[in-house]
Amino acid sequence: MNEIYKIPQIKGIPSFKPIVYKALLPAFHNFYVFPGFCDVHVHFREPGFSYKETILTGTRSAARGGFTDVCTMPNLDPVPDSAEHLNAQLDLIRRDAIIKVHPYGAITRGENGRDLADLDALAPNVIAFSDDGKGVQDEEMMRAAMKKARSLGKIIAAHCEDETLLKGGYIHDGEYAALKGHRGICSESEWRQIERDLRLAADTGCAYHICHISCKESVDIIKKAKAAGIDVTCETAPHYLLLDESALAEDGKYKMNPPLRSARDREALTEGLCDGTIDMIATDHAPHSREEKSLGLMKSAFGIVGLETAFPALYTGLVKTGIITLEKLVGIMAVNPRKRFGIPFSGDYTVWDLEEREKVDPERFATKGRSTPFEGMELYGTCYLTVADGRTVLYKKSAEEWEYGKKN
Ligand SMILES: [Zn+2]
Repeated sequence: MNEIYKIPQIKGIPSFKPIVYKALLPAFHNFYVFPGFCDVHVHFREPGFSYKETILTGTRSAARGGFTDVCTMPNLDPVPDSAEHLNAQLDLIRRDAIIKVHPYGAITRGENGRDLADLDALAPNVIAFSDDGKGVQDEEMMRAAMKKARSLGKIIAAHCEDETLLKGGYIHDGEYAALKGHRGICSESEWRQIERDLRLAADTGCAYHICHISCKESVDIIKKAKAAGIDVTCETAPHYLLLDESALAEDGKYKMNPPLRSARDREALTEGLCDGTIDMIATDHAPHSREEKSLGLMKSAFGIVGLETAFPALYTGLVKTGIITLEKLVGIMAVNPRKRFGIPFSGDYTVWDLEEREKVDPERFATKGRSTPFEGMELYGTCYLTVADGRTVLYKKSAEEWEYGKKN
């Protein structure tokens, strides 16, 4: 059996009985079985913005990408800033999710940055706290949030962005912006706030996680903070590791926040991933409607989809090129996020053919979002099966047919 099914031995992850897959998938060989991936940063848009994504389409998209646990950001309507508002989201999750969804609670009311949300009431049912979508501008507000989160044993996951440094920018303040006359977002808007928050985390003892880091300075600052013993972890997203401003064109599919930065930044992020400064990969899956993404770089909404391309893009760009090992990739996509956020691993798995190469075609995605900078690229790796809590939630039946499991 092990000749037919190559099963990597990953420390801490139980091996699986390959016989199951033989019965299901008699025609294939060279399959790999991975622990279900875990993404601590997705936007499923429901309640409030179901024209962009729903819990159903978002979790289907996750299953297609091999994910069995995801954490959803709170920029919703209503924002989960009280038990009542959170319940609206929990009801939808119970009804529609086909994999496990762990909501974040907001740090401030309506993510307004001024009044602390009801962290006490939220704590039992949220994975952590975040105001993702924007940075918490007021230092004293962030200090209060960290103190409270620490007393509740919860992580603060921060989108770091100093708004006084934004100046209307919407792509990286680099060569492309200068060449085409676009307004740029400087890297300092990110790392300034990281610097501030690390100081607060050191003061309060709060467990602190930094969302989607994108620039060299952030890697350097976090590396130092870790060496100094501050309780900090961070994530970056596949697009920051695999693309930079040299990929930019006048198209909304290249617009996200933080933006694609310089080659120097991309290299520093890769280094940070290799040396362990960066703990995990998160997709920041952020779907919008076709219309919202069709307005070019200046006017399109910030955000791209990422769940269905994350593993193939990273496998093709980082593993096949010899930059990291397959075991390392599985570690940063499945093991490290669960460890940091205390998400139990219940034996979920996903089965992939790594020799199959496919062209990224957003029209075949399960997500409602269609905007990805990986569109048209040839990537290795096809997901054939995803099993969560003992149920098959995704099965790829043929080249263009997918079956989804039903939640009990
Ligand atoms: Zn963010």
